[in-house]
Amino acid sequence: MKSVTTFDLQYAHRFYGFKGEAQYLHGHTGTLTIEVEDSVNMGVNMVFPCNEIQKTAWNVLKNFDHATILREDDPLLPAILEVYEKQGIKNGAPQNTMKGEAFKTELATAYPDCRLVVTKETMTTEGMIKIVYELLKDKLNISKITFTSGVNAATEDYKVSKTIDRCPLCGITLNQNGVCPKCGYRKNN
Ligand SMILES: [Zn+2]
Ligand SMILES: [Zn+2]
Repeated sequence: MKSVTTFDLQYAHRFYGFKGEAQYLHGHTGTLTIEVEDSVNMGVNMVFPCNEIQKTAWNVLKNFDHATILREDDPLLPAILEVYEKQGIKNGAPQNTMKGEAFKTELATAYPDCRLVVTKETMTTEGMIKIVYELLKDKLNISKITFTSGVNAATEDYKVSKTIDRCPLCGITLNQNGVCPKCGYRKNN
């Protein structure tokens, strides 16, 4: 069975070098759907509580919300950074509070202080799916990611082979000692 969670992300990007309207900087509300697959945890009769999937994923996804997403070789990147620098907002601003945790993977680097994500490849819907899977695959048993943005949509299925040990009382992942970090349940009690 699967638990399915959806997120809205508002962001600006462009397809650098692309011959079409998308070569101009523009914005979207994108919708990301993450499907988590596992056995049904009989204690709570759920695969995984969706608010917990939301918490785990949003920690990372916050970086893409109200952010500008540019490819690493896009000349807009140094231009924007120069403006932010001159304005004194490159390294943060008191009003920039809804920040995600900075991350760096093969495919993307997040700079929450100036709300930028720098990507290796063009941030298409396919590109976003690859980035999100890389960021969350070790935290959640992801079986499918779908991303839609404007008229573009992409989806990818993943093979799930492991089962995560979950609390029978609140459904969240037990830590390595078999203890629930939320309610304190102990597996071998
Ligand atoms: Zn676009
Ligand atoms: Zn618990």
